[in-house]
This record gives sequence, C-alpha cells and structure tokens, in this order.
Amino acid sequence: MFTEQDLQELISYRSRYPVLSVYLNTDPSIGSADAYKLHLRQMLKDYDEIAVEDTESIERFVEHEYDWSGRGLAIFSCVKDDFFRSFSLSLPVRSRARRLNRPYVKPLADLLTNYGNYGVALVDKQGARLFHFHLGQLGEEQGTTGEVVRHTKRGGGSQALGRRGGTAGQTRYAEEVAERNLKESARFTADFFSDQRVRRVLVGGTEANVARFIDLLPKTWRSLVMGTFPIEMTAGHTQVLEKAMGVAQKAVKKKEARLVSAVITAAAKGREGVIRLDDTLGAVHAGQVQTLIISEGHRAPGYRCKVCDYLTSQALETCPFCGNAIEKIEDAIEMAIRKVFSDGGEVEVIHDSSELEEAGGIGALLRY
Ligand SMILES: [Zn+2]
Repeated sequence: MFTEQDLQELISYRSRYPVLSVYLNTDPSIGSADAYKLHLRQMLKDYDEIAVEDTESIERFVEHEYDWSGRGLAIFSCVKDDFFRSFSLSLPVRSRARRLNRPYVKPLADLLTNYGNYGVALVDKQGARLFHFHLGQLGEEQGTTGEVVRHTKRGGGSQALGRRGGTAGQTRYAEEVAERNLKESARFTADFFSDQRVRRVLVGGTEANVARFIDLLPKTWRSLVMGTFPIEMTAGHTQVLEKAMGVAQKAVKKKEARLVSAVITAAAKGREGVIRLDDTLGAVHAGQVQTLIISEGHRAPGYRCKVCDYLTSQALETCPFCGNAIEKIEDAIEMAIRKVFSDGGEVEVIHDSSELEEAGGIGALLRY
C-alpha cells in the first residue's frame, strides 16, 4: 500500500540521471492485461532511444512481477542509479509516462490527498464500528459495544404504569445508557484514529446518533469530519467502502470546481489567469503557467514553431517570435503539458465541468 512515507522517499530522491515515471491504468473492469501491456509498450516507445534500460526494466516488471490485482500501477525507474520503485494501487490512474530529473509524483500525491487516511466510524446508541480507509482500501476494523439500550414498549397497560418510575423513568434511563455509550464510542474512536494517523473523518448512522456522536468527539477530530451518511450498523465492507468513496469523490469534485472558478475569475480580471486555447498556449510559451487545467480527454490540433516551440491554435506560416517555419501538430494540449512540466508548473485534469467546457476546455493560473 502506498503511504505518506513512500511519497516522501520519492520526493527527496535525487539522481544525476533522469527518472522515467510511468503510471498505468490496469483496471480489470475496463480492459485485459494484454491490452494494458500493449498500451504500456506504446507509451514507452518514445523513450526506447534515450532510456532503453529503463523501458526494459519497467516492461520486465510488468511482464514477470506485477500480479494484476490492482486497478493502477506506478513505477519509477532510473537503472543508471540503481533505482526502481513500483506501487500497486487499488484506485485507477490515468496512464502516462514522464522522464524528468526526479520522480513525477503529482498523481500519487493527489491520490493521497484525495483518498488517503480516512477514518470511518459507524455509530448507533450502543457502540461503534471503526475502519481505516486508504487509497480505495478498507481495513483495520475495530469495534466497541456498550450496554444494551432497552426501549420500553408503548401502551404496556396498567401494570407497566404501576411500576416504580413508570414509562417516563425507563425512557430517561435508556437515554442515559445511550449517552454513556456514545461518549465511550467517541473516546474509543479518537484513540483508534490517532493510532491509524487518520487525517479525515467520515461518520455513518442515523442522523440523530451521528450528530450527537460528532458533538462528543474531541475538538481536533470534530474539525476533521468531512462527511456523514446514513447506513445500517450491520453494513458489509463493500457498502462501507462505497459510501466512503462517494464522500471522497464529492470532495474531489468540489475541489475541481473551486479551481475552475479560480481560473475563470482570474482570467476575467486579466493578468492572473487565462482561458481558451490560444491565450493559454501563449501563457505556456511565455513560461507563465503555474497551474494548467484541462477538461479530461480534451485534445486540440495546433501549430508549433520548429525552432522555439511556440504553440498556437492559428494557422500561421511563420513564427511571430523567431520568424522560422511553423508545422501543424495533432495535439497541442500534450505539447503544452510537457512545456508546463519542464517549467516546473502543475497540471490538473478536470472531470465533467460544463463551466470549463464553455471556457474552451483549457485554462491556467499564472505566476505572479
Ligand atoms: Zn519560433
């Protein structure tokens, strides 16, 4: 399982030689191992000439060592420096390869940010079931069970009314037991979350129980509650995982929506952002892009200067910067992505944003 520690190791890795980083989607629900191997070969062929030792070591690993149990794979290879790392992932990733002077960790860092280190608590009046949810896997279930909360049947007749304390007394007693159990659950949960180094919290159960439980959590944990959901206390792992994924995905969508608004607002103001292909390509060429955003799957043909790499969506004959010949290219977006990376910028792929589509499917936040 990929952890924060693995990420730190990759980030701090330095080599005199470039590192070939490969992400491969291996989701078995979408394609076969053979299809993914073919895709890998296609991605790697660009690098055969300059880093054949790395393309070979990566293909050897995929052919002989990878067990295909995951939905995604991340590999970092720098054979010249005797460096090779691979991580099988329970979440799908977008396939891509990059050869940079250090491991390309952004997709893994994003996965950790979005789907890493969740604590999940299912609560009722009697106890709690606790899970650790990390990168699409659900693990480490623990539970606490308190005293049974007995409810008095209504309309128990004259005999019940005649008992000491009566129905009202028994209800009060049941409430006290429930309160005591929820308090104990909250305490137990806080300990479990600390042990598991949880960063975000999800709580499931009935609305009333969930609300009271969150009130009883220590303040630091209360502030980390990302979402709540209705669920049966006896729910199976698949169902808990589904709920947890749903909340995480919603949070990712929100984050993407915020980024799109930030770009569009900045572009409207002028200097800090751009939208639409031509303005964005201009900013890319000028090395001004901090964060490039692209609608998923967005492709656009364009034109490129053979000498200075100037990119444009307009059919120019000569480069306005250096006067050299311009060639037509199939995908200006991929070229723009490479340039942004080599300038040290970031790229975010945005899913299903009509706002971004209306803005041409591409935009960027610029450096100040
Ligand atoms: Zn030029």
